[in-house]
Amino acid sequence: MAVVEGLMQDYELSLQHVLWRIERLHQKKEVVTKRDEGIHRTTYGEMVPRINRLAGALKRLGVKPGDRVATLAWNNNRHLELYYAVPCMGAVLHTLNLRLFPQHLEFIINDAEDKVLFVDQSLLPLLKPLLGKIPTVETIVLMAEGPAPASEGLPQMLDYEKLLAAESESYPWPKLSERMAAAMCYTSGTTGNPKGVVYSHRSQFIHTMGVLQGDNLALQESDSLLPVVPMFHANSWGLPYAAGMAGSKVVFGGRFSADPKSIVELAEQEEVTFLAGVPTVWIALGAYLQESGKRLPRVRTVVCGGSAVPQSLMETMDSLGLRILHAWGMTETSPLGSVARVPAGTKPEDELRLRLTQGRVAPGVEIRISDPATGEELPWDGVAFGEIQVRGPWIARGYHNGYDPGKLTEDGWFRTGDVAKITPDGYILIVDRTKDVIKSGGEWISSVELENAVMAHPKIMEAAVIGLPHSKWDERPVVYAVAKPEFKDKVTQEEIVEFLKDKVAKWWLPDEVRFIDEVPKTSVGKFDKKVLRASAVPIKEGAAPAARK
Ligand code: AMP
Repeated sequence: MAVVEGLMQDYELSLQHVLWRIERLHQKKEVVTKRDEGIHRTTYGEMVPRINRLAGALKRLGVKPGDRVATLAWNNNRHLELYYAVPCMGAVLHTLNLRLFPQHLEFIINDAEDKVLFVDQSLLPLLKPLLGKIPTVETIVLMAEGPAPASEGLPQMLDYEKLLAAESESYPWPKLSERMAAAMCYTSGTTGNPKGVVYSHRSQFIHTMGVLQGDNLALQESDSLLPVVPMFHANSWGLPYAAGMAGSKVVFGGRFSADPKSIVELAEQEEVTFLAGVPTVWIALGAYLQESGKRLPRVRTVVCGGSAVPQSLMETMDSLGLRILHAWGMTETSPLGSVARVPAGTKPEDELRLRLTQGRVAPGVEIRISDPATGEELPWDGVAFGEIQVRGPWIARGYHNGYDPGKLTEDGWFRTGDVAKITPDGYILIVDRTKDVIKSGGEWISSVELENAVMAHPKIMEAAVIGLPHSKWDERPVVYAVAKPEFKDKVTQEEIVEFLKDKVAKWWLPDEVRFIDEVPKTSVGKFDKKVLRASAVPIKEGAAPAARK
């Protein structure tokens, strides 16, 4: 039977459209960056000629379609210029995670075969140990603050501002195909080597529309956005492009991004309405607000994702007038996967429970849970739990260089490695990462749930739970807890276990509670359980476990 085609245009979905919008519609919107010497202020209108010059410079440096251009940079206006110039001229923007160890950066740069590398001056010390070990990098461009310094002992280093000054204010943007690679991010690599996720223009365009959608993050033209989430962490969760599409003001914290005092000062000065970052940032911010007595009444949304939101954090933020919007996702999902919006008609007493879930899958993405042993799809009954699998136009179908082909199921779904239940009305409840779940006597203990229960204790600021080997039970949970400063050395293991007794099943009660000064964090600010596991002393099996004392 002949296929009857629709008669709509084959308009290529590309980031050039977002560039067109900032040029034609949002010229007056400000882009503000906190720098060492003070606040730097520009507008989209002033940025566009610089983006054109930058594309000209990239071309002059020999960058061709598909070449990778790396950035080692904080959240700032130049990084945003690269966000536009690199993909729009047909190359691939590769944002490097500046919190990685040199050997990881070396691996990633070589794996991506980056051709040009842009580096913020304050991050040069990170780059120096890599020199001579990254042969594909032909040119390093220094983004200096203040007058350009001497070559800093680095060969072939060009100055960003001089490069731009030598080019024309207009650039003949090429026609792009929507399936071309636009950007690249490596996974944080908690197990094995990091893997490159390659976004296409099409996936970035559709993801941008998804981020803006009213029941997703709902960023608007009237917002003033401060993305605390780094621009190297899944493209700052897609917010810079969403801001460009919508025309929101953007405020960058530079190298002060994660510091609560700087966030509050910037938010006050720049009338910020929209914040986004991982829970550890908001735990610190909440403590700072409580201590300083300051408040941020203009902020209407605090997007929180990257790890589960502890109930205590949501309640603290609520009490400070800051409304957390909980979202789930991963580098491989661009990253928006689901958002915890409360549906119409929800009783007030049910709201908190729903806001604490990972929410419902974003329009455009499909989700299922599957039995890790049999691969069978499981029901959405709020009881059965299995691995989350997703598919959709902004979900990865593979990694750069063909790593880990098994991440895609035979029928084309992406295996996330997250274990969850789904309620009949589609609310996702993440139980754990498959590698963090604690297997005790053949049963599962959710490290995430146990952590949340411990963090609800009034004397506790942060807590991470890991399973440690046990001769009888296989694994048993051990809590690593950080007391709030005023309760340091004034809280005991017994108090914590007593507190947990009516909150979790008896066999979930931890064998030990170990107090530490700080929970180690990953390069993107999540609890780093790998580090805890590596340095953990074995459980004292002879002694009565904390739970049974
Ligand atoms: P990354 O690619 O570094 O952003 O890490 C993605 C992983 O972070 C996911 O696979 C989850 O394990 C975890 N994650 C992200 N958001 C959440 C959330 N809201 N709740 C629980 N875990 C999350």
